Amino acid sequence: MDTVAVDCLILGGGLSGLWLLNVLRRAGYSTLLIHDGRELGGIQSLNSAGMIHGGRRELPGLTPKAEHLQDMPALWENCLRGSGELDLRDVRILAPEQHLWCPGDLRSRANLLLNARLSVGKVRHLGRDHFPSLLKSPGFTGHVYALEQPVLDAVSLLRVLAKPHADCIYQADQQDVHIQTGDLHSTKAVFVRKGKVQLRIHPRQVFLAAGAGNAALLQDIGINRPLMRRRPIHMVCVQHAQLPDFYGHCHDHERRPRLTITTHPSGSGKMWYIAGAVAEDGVDRDETLQIQAVKHELQTLLPWQNLHGARFRSFLIDRIYPADSSPWQPVRACVQPFGNNWLVWPTRLALAPNAGHQILAGLAQKQVAPSLPQPGPLPMAQPVPGRPLWEMLQTQV
Ligand SMILES: Cc1cc2nc3c(=O)[nH]c(=O)nc-3n(C[C@H](O)[C@H](O)[C@H](O)COP(=O)(O)OP(=O)(O)OC[C@H]3O[C@@H](n4cnc5c(N)ncnc54)[C@H](O)[C@@H]3O)c2cc1C
Repeated sequence: MDTVAVDCLILGGGLSGLWLLNVLRRAGYSTLLIHDGRELGGIQSLNSAGMIHGGRRELPGLTPKAEHLQDMPALWENCLRGSGELDLRDVRILAPEQHLWCPGDLRSRANLLLNARLSVGKVRHLGRDHFPSLLKSPGFTGHVYALEQPVLDAVSLLRVLAKPHADCIYQADQQDVHIQTGDLHSTKAVFVRKGKVQLRIHPRQVFLAAGAGNAALLQDIGINRPLMRRRPIHMVCVQHAQLPDFYGHCHDHERRPRLTITTHPSGSGKMWYIAGAVAEDGVDRDETLQIQAVKHELQTLLPWQNLHGARFRSFLIDRIYPADSSPWQPVRACVQPFGNNWLVWPTRLALAPNAGHQILAGLAQKQVAPSLPQPGPLPMAQPVPGRPLWEMLQTQV
């Protein structure tokens, strides 16, 4: 059996694992990443809408003192410009800003104004000349604000994060990886056994960055309390030859956005990706009913948009949160140490930098400095770049 020793082992190759890989290697730690799945990228991350947002302003007394969600958009902007902690200049920016809009009634206008005022970041009220093309129709009588926070192509983000470290990213199915623990939940060794591959890894620190897979990993290290919560959402994809690019949240008089639309490359064309209340409330609908519900929302809110012949498809997907967090606005990434293991759930794409910062601070506090050399090539398979679910679905009219 081959044996390697390494400073850090990351389990999970979604955004949190790949971001952390970059952060740790940049800080000088030798690091390996093992991903369960042939396709790298992570189920939540590959299917994320890619919206970087700083959430809502907190009331002064409630603002956490430590770095949190409000600080994230500026960090991302720096990375995207090439002057931040990671170089993300090659990430495809789908839109430099997002739109907040409402239908024409008074209550919706008042709520939109409130949402625009409470949003973190630069928000501008737009005159009709500057409306995004989707809302330029004479039939639209509502208001529109622009929020200067970008929407990223998550697929390109994940590829950019993986590319410089392809030599330390490996693939192994969950059932082929066994964690050997010692006292107080500390990991002594991780064994990978599949066919001729017999490998023992001695990591000094282990990062559980496996999204929903963390539930099983926590049990493997002897944590049996339920620490994870799943919040499913029923997303809908709409394909049509003439969809205008749009990235925005529709606010009516309810607290949550009623409809969120982002536009993504899909095959040789593009598609609208529909979230918001209609997706959150649609988890008990089957695909036909969910598509009907979304068609109804689009027809009600955007009746001028020609969707004749549009093709629809839907899928259910879980978003993962720590059991004790507010699902509405997790303001910091969840990072929790157990012995030499670290549980990591960013809970939002936008919070990945915060997870990295918390981990570097935690390692410094534990006085874990880089000490082992980066291992050479291992006799394991390597994953290929992943694709979002919508690339694999056949759409229906
Ligand atoms: C539909 C949707 C839209 C979203 N939109 C946004 C948005 O616009 N903006 C935003 O900020 N956030 C958004 N999010 C949230 C964001 O995508 C997630 O918080 C983030 O991607 C989580 O990344 P992750 O790496 O922790 O998990 P994942 O992306 O799920 O990756 C973890 C991966 O680890 C692998 N794994 C599992 N078990 C093991 C194991 N034992 N060993 C090794 N690997 C394992 C699996 O392949 C798994 O997919 C969205 C989420 C969803 C579902």
